[in-house]
Amino acid sequence: MKSFWGLEIEKHKEFENLKNNIKADVCIVGGGLTGISTAYYLSKAGKKAVLLEKDRICSRTSSGTTGKVTSQHGLIYKYLEDEHGKETAKEYFESNEKAIKNIEEIIKKENIDCDFEKKKAYVYTKSEKDVEKIKEEVKATKQIGIESEFVKNIDLPLDILGAIKFENQAQFHPVKYAYGLITAIIKNNGKIYEKSKVTDIEENDEYYKILTEKGCVIAKDVVIATRYPIITFPGYYFLKMYQSTSYAILFDTHTEFETDGFFINSEEPKISFRKVKDGDKNLLLVVGYDYKTGTEVIGNCFEYLKKYVTNIFPLAEEIISWTAEDCISLDKIPYIGNFSKMMKNIYVATGFNKWGITSSNISANIITDKILEKENEYEDIYKSSRLEIIKNKDEELNMMKEAANSIVIKRIKGVETPTCTHLGCKLSWNELEKTWDCPCHGSRYDEYGNVIEGPAIKNTKVN
Ligand SMILES: Cc1cc2nc3c(=O)[nH]c(=O)nc-3n(C[C@H](O)[C@H](O)[C@H](O)COP(=O)(O)OP(=O)(O)OC[C@H]3O[C@@H](n4cnc5c(N)ncnc54)[C@H](O)[C@@H]3O)c2cc1C
Repeated sequence: MKSFWGLEIEKHKEFENLKNNIKADVCIVGGGLTGISTAYYLSKAGKKAVLLEKDRICSRTSSGTTGKVTSQHGLIYKYLEDEHGKETAKEYFESNEKAIKNIEEIIKKENIDCDFEKKKAYVYTKSEKDVEKIKEEVKATKQIGIESEFVKNIDLPLDILGAIKFENQAQFHPVKYAYGLITAIIKNNGKIYEKSKVTDIEENDEYYKILTEKGCVIAKDVVIATRYPIITFPGYYFLKMYQSTSYAILFDTHTEFETDGFFINSEEPKISFRKVKDGDKNLLLVVGYDYKTGTEVIGNCFEYLKKYVTNIFPLAEEIISWTAEDCISLDKIPYIGNFSKMMKNIYVATGFNKWGITSSNISANIITDKILEKENEYEDIYKSSRLEIIKNKDEELNMMKEAANSIVIKRIKGVETPTCTHLGCKLSWNELEKTWDCPCHGSRYDEYGNVIEGPAIKNTKVN
């Protein structure tokens, strides 16, 4: 499903695909915001960076996003303080604030026209029982120096009982931003190949051979920026995260409105929204109704979103809709850094929990510093080899149960259920989107078995 942001891709000429064998300092696999931001910093530092994208640049989650550039990731700070300690919560906040600043500076320096606007971020509630939770979040944020505020109203016609507000956050057009970075990468002698799917990574003495269907890159350092890592062993990321899908609709509200912020609720189901710039239209982007990819969806979530929006803007009319997925880490902190102790010079950035715009900038900085052999002040909290996640036993058990269930499902609708080419789980049929989805690790295939979303690389057989 094409997104509103994704329409921007069609305005740009396609990069050629990789047809021969080339050498580079660093090969970046995946051309979403993470891969592109990493290629930007590395090429700026003088490294010969080659980026390989299996489809078009930003054709996956980075164009399915809401485009909020923020350190307010739901009600996360009370959780972080309780589970990881005040110091980690503070560093998490600071690293995300630094990422907002970095993005703003890049936009100025590279002269990127991407509708970047400063906004306030709000998590609101309509539920009596969540008001206390929001007040506790305000307290937790103040304890680590965040200038947050509890407010009773927002400037949209929505009856709320309370909200936490962060100042100085931002929103932008993610794909216009990505193309601005790409212009800078090319200027810095970086290379980008589209329609170049990486099929394998071979270790070769001091170098890696990154294979695509028609050619390969030989590089000392490799960055896996495929959202869900395409290497399964070692690393074992499938044991420490899952993928979650959200629905998104862009509306023309046919109502003039201004707002100083963007919004997400605290209760379930999650609904997140923001105003979008497009000439003088009054557009509203709404995303939500998250579900674990491959599990059963109750009802038509697009319809639920429509109902939510027409309650606020009765004249609202749908322009375009899509779905997008992201990786959810078990301890709510992304995994950024060395891919595995067993594979040196391979780096990873994943598990962004649907807050990957700032996280992609944090990742790009940490990984660039590692490759340049510099210390990064935030690398410890995001360390990808950490084991604390095992503490989240409930989710770990859930993941195991899903995997076991999926393996025993035999037949649906009288046909042999296709299996995922990643780790052999049985796929579930998604009637709404006409896709085969993996309930274990979130790979998705079209109705003919062609891979749409990884970690699977190979297509599957559909009878
Ligand atoms: C509905 C939704 C709303 C969101 N809203 C926000 C928000 O408002 N703010 C925020 O901070 N975050 C948000 N996020 C999260 C954020 O959008 C993502 O975390 C971020 O875009 C992920 O970027 P990425 O580059 O890691 O992944 P992707 O954008 O998915 O890029 C990975 C790329 O790797 C490529 N690839 C995969 N396999 C291969 C292969 N074998 N060879 C070559 N290339 C390959 C893919 O084609 C893809 O282009 C949202 C997420 C969702 C789902």
